[in-house]
Amino acid sequence: MPRQVDDMVRTDKGVAEFCKNYEFRTDYICEVVKRRQCRKILIQLPEGFLRCIPFLYKELSRCVESVEILFSLNPSHGSCLLDELGSRISGSDLLVHIGHVEYPNYTPAIPVLFIPAEYTGVHNLRFERIVDYIRTKNVQSVLVLTTSQHAELSRWLVEFLNTKGFRAEYGGIVTGCLVPKIPKDIDITLVVAGGRFHAIGVALRNLDRASTIVMVDPYTGAIRDVQEDVKKILRIRYWKIAYSREAKTWVVIDGVYGQHRPSIVDKICQLIRQRGGTCIKTIALYLDQHVLENLDSEDVDVFVVASCPRIPIDDLYEFRKPVLTPGEAYMVLTGEERYVYPW
Ligand code: SF4
Repeated sequence: MPRQVDDMVRTDKGVAEFCKNYEFRTDYICEVVKRRQCRKILIQLPEGFLRCIPFLYKELSRCVESVEILFSLNPSHGSCLLDELGSRISGSDLLVHIGHVEYPNYTPAIPVLFIPAEYTGVHNLRFERIVDYIRTKNVQSVLVLTTSQHAELSRWLVEFLNTKGFRAEYGGIVTGCLVPKIPKDIDITLVVAGGRFHAIGVALRNLDRASTIVMVDPYTGAIRDVQEDVKKILRIRYWKIAYSREAKTWVVIDGVYGQHRPSIVDKICQLIRQRGGTCIKTIALYLDQHVLENLDSEDVDVFVVASCPRIPIDDLYEFRKPVLTPGEAYMVLTGEERYVYPW
């Protein structure tokens, strides 16, 4: 499953030090909890932050003594998966979701407080090195995209680039699936994030610009384009698309909460049935290789994951049968040859 807090931020300096490097805004959480007169709160963190639970528990217990604090261990790969069920079952008055900003087009049925968890530790970016890199490309206009953890750093970078004579603009926060189309007048796009995950998402959505998309990693200081990674991914994806052309029986997997995409599922099933195929609809809170192993049989030809388009690309690309994104299913079913991402 896609990671939102990259493993590369793990150091052996100790968990407490790691956790102190992020702006969890515990004073603000306490203020909101008191103002709302909460008796119980549920806190949800991405995998990479789970080890900060004792740290957060101590910090929050100091300022909201009489409030019961509960931590969710349910999937939290993005704000598409707010733990609504855990919140309701536990009778929590507020879900505090840490690590992401709101997922567009998804309105949870419970009160939620979003804490983006900005990285405030020492970053390894040398802005001058970024300037040198951009100068080698001989370009002028720069778009800077980022994740919830590096929004402030990215704004500083934009200001710095503008003082160096570039035309830089801040394009906001991206997720693995929600990525803007890059405007035509942008020469180079910097994706400030830990690891390649987000830069690859930007490139898949903007394939005609893939050579101009650059990963800038604040943890390692690495600056590099992702074109080769994308080429490798596309080779695998086109092979899976070709392999699915004769498929008869399709299992389409929907998700829950913000990953519930009924109109996409219906559209795919309609196209399958128009071709005389069988579409079996399923729904899952969590999907991995193990679930697919149990689901697979000689009666199934292809799986389509409508919930999260990064699962087929990043996690299940080695599965023995094609596991497609909605965009790829659309390509198979309509004959479209241009790569479609994400849906
Ligand atoms: S659906 Fe999008 S935001 Fe949610 S985990 Fe997948 S890639 Fe991330």
